[in-house]
Amino acid sequence: MNKRSISILGATGSIGASTLDLLRRRKDDWRVVALTANCQAADLARLAIEFGAEIAVVGDETCFPELREALAGSGVEAAAGAAALIEAAARPVDLTIAAIVGCAGLAPTMAAIEQGGTVALANKEALVSAGEVMTAAVVRHGATVLPVDSEHNAIFQCLAGNDRADVRRITLTASGGPFREWDADRLAAATPAQAVRHPNWDMGAKISVDSATMMNKGLELIEAFHLFPVGLDRLRILVHPQSVVHSMVEYRDGSTLAQLGPSDMRVPIASALAWPARMDTPCDPLDLAAIGTLSFGTPDEARFPATRLARQAAEAGGGIPAVLNAANEIAVAAFLAGQIGFTRIAAQVEDVLADYAPPPPASLDDVLAVDGEARARARFLMETA
Ligand code: NDP
Repeated sequence: MNKRSISILGATGSIGASTLDLLRRRKDDWRVVALTANCQAADLARLAIEFGAEIAVVGDETCFPELREALAGSGVEAAAGAAALIEAAARPVDLTIAAIVGCAGLAPTMAAIEQGGTVALANKEALVSAGEVMTAAVVRHGATVLPVDSEHNAIFQCLAGNDRADVRRITLTASGGPFREWDADRLAAATPAQAVRHPNWDMGAKISVDSATMMNKGLELIEAFHLFPVGLDRLRILVHPQSVVHSMVEYRDGSTLAQLGPSDMRVPIASALAWPARMDTPCDPLDLAAIGTLSFGTPDEARFPATRLARQAAEAGGGIPAVLNAANEIAVAAFLAGQIGFTRIAAQVEDVLADYAPPPPASLDDVLAVDGEARARARFLMETA
């Protein structure tokens, strides 16, 4: 059997680790081309050697000497910097895993899309920021996007074999995060350590904070809007604390299809790796009798305004979702650094959205310019608050 080639952008992160765990079990099936990170050079070098990658790239050039030294004599090419990330992402492969966190992943993801291959997309911020620009590039270059985000992967599976015109409603489920039952006073005092302790999922710090504010669900709403163009009014969010039903699609005959599974990202990643077939995973089978109860409720946008902000940004369209995303990335980083309180995250995003309404971006460069300007304004508003 011919090996399939694969590149992993964001190989040292949580999604990267889950992907590599699956590849490690089927090493004979895969040829690893590029592995990338930002600055975890030692980890990246270790993985690149283990998987016999062609090239390993760190985004942060200050980490290049460490990478070069760790890879010396290994036969793995080493590179660093933004242009090197794009060059590595543009190497032709059968499958690219786009798993860099934040808008930093946008240009490399676009480079992979422009090769017209298959991109398994975890990096939701890239699609949220670039929306129409990215979806147009997918069509123009004949690329295929397979959603890795568990909710979107669930929807993708529930839509298979059905006609989009028959969709009445798509429901994104949300765990509600670690603060689901906290009142406003407790939320105002929430710490980064509490925010990154998700009840059901083990994820990177940024998405964990996004889950706690519900901005993750807001970003996912915009992601779904682009991936499954049935109209914003047919997308809704339902809080489902057990994270067993990963999302649902309701059809016009009254049938609702749902995808259920363990809270383990290796399940949706495996679905993308094997698509359109299936593969084994080491995940425990779903034990519904042990789980016992599945509950659902509507989100509380008074305590968690992020989903409202995201819906408004999706409605406004153009460059507004990129502003929302950039402002959120700055606010989350400031919260993790102890510079602002938890409830300031959404408040700060709302301030930036009120301050900056750019014209619709028409190209990747336009999106990056909006992203940069929104970050500058977010920092300025934070410093002068
Ligand atoms: P992590 O923080 O665990 O990993 C992020 C990866 O991106 C690391 O490899 C990191 O490198 C790299 N990276 C960070 N900043 C840059 C940069 N400026 N330039 C180049 N590379 C960079 O994140 P996750 O794996 O949790 O999430 C990745 C993406 O997947 C996010 O968009 C997230 O929303 C999405 N996602 C994650 C899920 C999860 O369960 N974790 C679930 C669904 C979606 P380094 O290690 O060197 O810092």
